Amino acid sequence: MVKCATKGCDKPASMRCPTCIKMNIDIGSFFCSQACFKGAWNDHKMTHKLAKLAIQRATSEMAESVPMTFPGFKFTGPLRPYAQSPRRPIPPHIEKPDYALHPLGEPISEVRNKSQLRQLSAEEIEKMRHVCKLGREVLDECARIIKPGVTTDEIDAVCHKACLERDCYPSPLNYYQFPKSCCTSLNEVICHGIPDGYPLKDGDIINVDVSVYYHGYHADLNEMYLVGEVDDESFRLVKVAYECLYRAIAMSKPGVRYRDLGMVISEHAEANGFSVVRSVCGHGINNLFHCAPNVPHYARNKTAGVMKPGHTFTIEPLINVGTWDDVTWPDSWTITTKDGKRSAQFEHTLLVTEDGVEILTGRNPDSPST
Ligand SMILES: [Zn+2]
Ligand SMILES: [Zn+2]
Repeated sequence: MVKCATKGCDKPASMRCPTCIKMNIDIGSFFCSQACFKGAWNDHKMTHKLAKLAIQRATSEMAESVPMTFPGFKFTGPLRPYAQSPRRPIPPHIEKPDYALHPLGEPISEVRNKSQLRQLSAEEIEKMRHVCKLGREVLDECARIIKPGVTTDEIDAVCHKACLERDCYPSPLNYYQFPKSCCTSLNEVICHGIPDGYPLKDGDIINVDVSVYYHGYHADLNEMYLVGEVDDESFRLVKVAYECLYRAIAMSKPGVRYRDLGMVISEHAEANGFSVVRSVCGHGINNLFHCAPNVPHYARNKTAGVMKPGHTFTIEPLINVGTWDDVTWPDSWTITTKDGKRSAQFEHTLLVTEDGVEILTGRNPDSPST
């Protein structure tokens, strides 16, 4: 039972302040009667003022693009976090995965079933083809707005809208409480960067990682984009990350062990003087966002599983200029390189066929390229 907000009045609430409803203020907005509401008005109206100030502050921080710090944390490179926009709402008619409404964002079905390595039925494969096509369209929409001055939050807004327009749920949103609808990982960020008020700068490299959920199935893909003119080393890094993904795809077919992909990726990365991240892997994907197989990208890994027709999984090599080692920001998501040097990644969702793999998230003729 919600009680009247007037001090000393313990009666059950029967009405809510109309201004609070408009401003989305929850706490202290309920009253037992018009009389109590009128009596409390002089104090109560401060709530509106304070809420208004908080919104103004958040918006001006976004607009001014003020970098923030984590007290006591030593950043490994030049990038800093910026203010995040308020959470973007999902209309009720969108079909949601179980974690979307879980208070801690826990994917209950995934936790229970993720160790199963499954061959999908023909019907499920069709659903995967469909959701992956939608995922590709969403990533392309994001890519089209990338240029100096655009914030990563604006990319997130485009991703969110593009998902809703296609009746998709943006899979990252609330997954273990991730606050946004895609990941934007810049320069020294390896992956899981949170979209915020950071304005893209000439010379940046950015990875946009899009995952969408439609009719019970997930798609997952990401690409790197160059912002303005980038230096030669960054260009080479991005090119090698792309080649690593395609070399791994080229060797994939029934009978190949998932553990062998890491060898091919590592060889190519190391031949070019780069290293391979060890803490983040490709994964099975179907009605679960992340499940078996685990797909490491480094050599001599011991992961289980052999490719069979009907498996759907991702390959997403993360390639670093310097050390493979990483550091996570205190936001508990953003993973950066330990030496602050740059990192690049490309990802596709794949289906194992009778004689190879089908790239389910492949580019369209009009897809913007890196
Ligand atoms: Zn992804
Ligand atoms: Zn993935």
